[in-house]
Amino acid sequence: MRTLDERIAMKHGAGGRAMRTLIEQVFVEAFAAPIDGVGLADMDDGAAFRVGDRWLVITTDSHVVMPRFFPGGDIGRLAISGTVNDLSMMGAAEPLGLTCAVVIEEGFSREELLTIERSMRDAAREAGAPVVTGDTKVMGRGELDGIIINTTGVAFCDRIVRDSGLREGDRIVVTGTIGDHGIAVMSKRNDLALEGDLVSDVAPINALVRAALAAGGDAVTAMKDPTRGGLASALHEMAQKSKVGVVIDEPRLPLRTEVRAAAELLGIDPMHIANEGKAVMGVRPDAADRVLAALRAHPLGRDAAVIGVCVAERTGSIVLDTGVGRRLLAELDGEPMPRIC
Ligand code: MG
Repeated sequence: MRTLDERIAMKHGAGGRAMRTLIEQVFVEAFAAPIDGVGLADMDDGAAFRVGDRWLVITTDSHVVMPRFFPGGDIGRLAISGTVNDLSMMGAAEPLGLTCAVVIEEGFSREELLTIERSMRDAAREAGAPVVTGDTKVMGRGELDGIIINTTGVAFCDRIVRDSGLREGDRIVVTGTIGDHGIAVMSKRNDLALEGDLVSDVAPINALVRAALAAGGDAVTAMKDPTRGGLASALHEMAQKSKVGVVIDEPRLPLRTEVRAAAELLGIDPMHIANEGKAVMGVRPDAADRVLAALRAHPLGRDAAVIGVCVAERTGSIVLDTGVGRRLLAELDGEPMPRIC
């Protein structure tokens, strides 16, 4: 029996084990009533209701990234992409619309707000996901740090893809290079003079997911976006829920040279670093080539790779095959980087 922490700490919002435990102990306890579909207790990327012979998917996300502007994006682009991508991870890659609720600190620059709004508009256009309603609140100076943006999205789909659908033999596919977002935000936050281009991957990837689903159909067995906690957290959650083990072929991990160097400098494993424009997928072995080709044909999936396989042994664990040996990949309690999204 795990005990409850008396006070909330930064680790409780970091996407790792501490956050999942908090959600289980506080919110899942309160809202455990099962629904005909995917509910809170499933702790997936969103919820799903049966409507006729289709599914209505809903998901929500609040954004607090610091700094608000970073190489490759800003809090506005992040707020649209985060929600569009969570819908997509459920198999609902054609958003009907989004809501946008902002809480702004007194004294916030109007010009900055307009810049963020333009960025949201551009990302929404890219995703084909109109913002259709919202809410605006202002709090006093010092009562919050600048701005918080919440977005909620809804979409219909014919087939739900769960994060718990991995089966023995499935190939693990990642849609591109890992760690780009977290490293870009960290380098900006700490004013690191790092070599090369560190650019966030933040993007709505619903079109990329549509391409993968069109190519793979039912053979796409599971999806999750490796955001907070990185690829390591996403894989652990998928493996635990699916009751399979995962063996990752480490040399196959797509990783930019600049990100590898920066991660080394910061002493962080790229597997633990957040991504905001990537997906991890489970794909049946006979469809893996097909899905990979479809991903690589899309500009956001050029670096997609098959990085591992699901096995029956060591369920819930992620084994890293380094080429010279094997080791278990740890899941962090928190995340090395707070306020990353
Ligand atoms: Mg997600």
